[in-house]
Amino acid sequence: MRIIVFNAGSSSLKFGVFDLNAGDTLDKAQHVFKGSFDRFGPDGCDYQHGTQQPVVERAPYTSLAAATRAVPDLLSAAGVGAIDAVGHRIAHGGACFDGATVLNDTTLARIDALTPLAPLHNPANLEAVQVARQVWPDLAQWAVFDTAFHLSNPARASTYAVPKDWRDRGLRRYGFHGTSHKYVAHRAAEELGQRLRDLRLISLHLGNGASACAIAGGVSIDSSMGMTPMEGLVMGTRSGDVDPGLFGYVHRELGLDIAQIEDTLNRHSGLLGLTGSSDMRDVEARAAQGDADAQLAIHIYAYRARKYIGAYAAAMGGLDALVFTGGIGENSPSMRRRICDGLGFMGILLDHDRNMQVDLGARAAPQIQAYGARVNVLVTETAEQLMIAREVVVAANRSRGQGARIPVAVSARHVHLCRKAVDALFGPGYELTPDKPLRQQGHWAAAERVALHGPKGTIRNVAILGPLRDRTQIEVSRTDSFALGLDAPVRQSGKLDGTPQIRLSGPMGEMDSDGLIIASRHIHMAPEDAAGMGLADGDMVDVKLDATGRDLTFTRVLVRVSDNAFTEMHIDTDEANAAGISGEGDGQISAAATLEPALSNPQA
Ligand code: ADP
Repeated sequence: MRIIVFNAGSSSLKFGVFDLNAGDTLDKAQHVFKGSFDRFGPDGCDYQHGTQQPVVERAPYTSLAAATRAVPDLLSAAGVGAIDAVGHRIAHGGACFDGATVLNDTTLARIDALTPLAPLHNPANLEAVQVARQVWPDLAQWAVFDTAFHLSNPARASTYAVPKDWRDRGLRRYGFHGTSHKYVAHRAAEELGQRLRDLRLISLHLGNGASACAIAGGVSIDSSMGMTPMEGLVMGTRSGDVDPGLFGYVHRELGLDIAQIEDTLNRHSGLLGLTGSSDMRDVEARAAQGDADAQLAIHIYAYRARKYIGAYAAAMGGLDALVFTGGIGENSPSMRRRICDGLGFMGILLDHDRNMQVDLGARAAPQIQAYGARVNVLVTETAEQLMIAREVVVAANRSRGQGARIPVAVSARHVHLCRKAVDALFGPGYELTPDKPLRQQGHWAAAERVALHGPKGTIRNVAILGPLRDRTQIEVSRTDSFALGLDAPVRQSGKLDGTPQIRLSGPMGEMDSDGLIIASRHIHMAPEDAAGMGLADGDMVDVKLDATGRDLTFTRVLVRVSDNAFTEMHIDTDEANAAGISGEGDGQISAAATLEPALSNPQA
C-alpha cells in the first residue's frame, strides 16, 4: 500500500510517502518521498524535498492550503505513482478516538468539537484534511491521534482532582506525542531483543515540545503532558508544570488576562522564558561560556526530566529501559548525561564513550548504559510519519479475525501456588488433590482451598488451580481487591514484579506473598485456530459479547497462542457481571481487531 502522511502545524506542513503492507515489518517500508513547506509569506514558501540529500528551494505557495493542493503535481514530477490512502496527524482526539480513524463528515465534526482542547494544533491539522479531501476525493483519509496511545492510562493517572462538573466537561489528562512514544518503545524492545509486553519503559521525547511517558507491557500508563500539551517537562517555549495558583496571581498582580497568561506559558516560557532562546543548542553554547541564565535553564530542564523518571519508575514498580528521542534527546550527550546522573541508585548508569558516540543512521537505536547497568538506556530517532503510515495500513487491515466466534469463560478468583507456598499452607511435602479438570489441557482445580487476608477484609474458600508454578500468583477481581483493601494492578499472568503482598492462610499455616493481580482479559488460542483466523500470538482484538442482550465489547483483548491451548476467552467476575453473563458465554471478534505486527523482525 502507498500511504501519504501529512503533519500540518500552524506555520508548516510536512509530508511523506511510504510503501508498506499489512504485516510488513518496518524495515520493509520504503520512504518514497519526503517534503516540507514552511516560512510562508506573500512571495511563497520554503519547500524542502528529497529523502537522501534534501534540497531547499523557494516555491510559489503562499498558504498551507495552496501547498497541499500542489502536492500531487510535485509527486508526479518526482515520479511517485498512485497513492492508496492518506494519513493525517491530528493532535487531539479527546477521550473518543483510541486508534486510527477514517475521516468522514461525522468524525470530522467530532474532531472539530475538540478544538477548544487544542486551539493551536487541531485547526491546522483539520485545514490540511479539508484540502486533502478535495485533492483526493476517492481515497480513504485517516486520522492518527497524538492522544490515542495514552487513552490506556488508568483513571488514577488521567484524572485531575477537580470537581465533578469540571471533569464532566472533559477536564482530564490526555497526553500527547503518543505516536512517537509508541514507536520508540517498539524500537527499543526490538533492539533489546525482548517482547515489548515484558518491559517497563520510560520514553523521553525531548524536542521543541517535550514529554515523558511510562510504558508498561507496551501500554502507556502515564505521560507528562496533560489536558493540553503544556503540562510536564520544560519545553522550547512552554513552561511545563507550574502551580495553577499562578494564574490568579499573575492576573491580579501583573494585570494579564487569561489569553495573555496562556500565550505567555505557551509561547514565551520554557527555555525561551528562561534564557531568551528556545533552541537548546544556543542555550548549551551560552551556558558553556558562563551565562548564568543558560546554566540555570539546563539545570531546571534536566532536574524536571529526572523527577519524572523517578516518578514513572515508581508508577511501574521498576524500570527496564529508558529511551531518549527528539532533537535534544537524540543530539545532546550532555543533556542525556545530566538527566541520568544521580540515578545510579535505581540502576541507571551511562557509559561515557557510548553516550558520546551515538550514531543514529538507518533507524539505529544504540544502547548507552554502562556495561552491567540494570537499566538499558537507548537513543533513537523518532519516526512519527512512518508510524502514522503503519497505523493506517494496520487499521485498513483490521478485518482479520472479524466475525470469529470465541467461547468465553468466567475466571472466578483463584490462586496458583508454588512449592514453597504449598509447604507453608498445607505442610511440608503436601501434594494438592486434583479435583476438577479445567478446559486448558493439564490444568485442574484442587480440592483444597485457601483464604486471602488483606488490611480491609478476608476472602475465604478461594480455589487453587494446578499444576504448581514457579511463583505464587493470586488473581482477584477489582471488587475483591477493594474488599481486601489492597491495590491489585491489572496484569497479564506471570507479570508479577512490583505487585502487592498479601497474606494467604491454609490449614497448616500462613504466608505472605506478592503476586496479587487482576488478570487482564485474554484469549487462549490453539495454533490451528489462530492460523484459521489470521491471528498471531500477541495480537490485540476486540470481542463483542452478547450473552443476555447486554451488548458489551471488550477492547484490547490479548491473544495468547500456545500449543495444546483450548481456544477460550477469559474474563473476570466483574467483567462478566458487566456483560451480564455467568459461568460461560459466547463472544465474537468484532470489526476492530487491532493488530500490531512487529516493527521489524528481530531474527533478520
Ligand atoms: P520538534 O519537536 O519541533 O520536532 P526537534 O525534535 O527537532 O523539534 O527538536 C528541536 C530541539 O532539538 C531544539 O531545541 C534544538 O536545539 C535541539 N537540538 C538539535 N540538535 C541539537 C544538538 N546537537 N545539541 C543540543 N540540542 C539540539
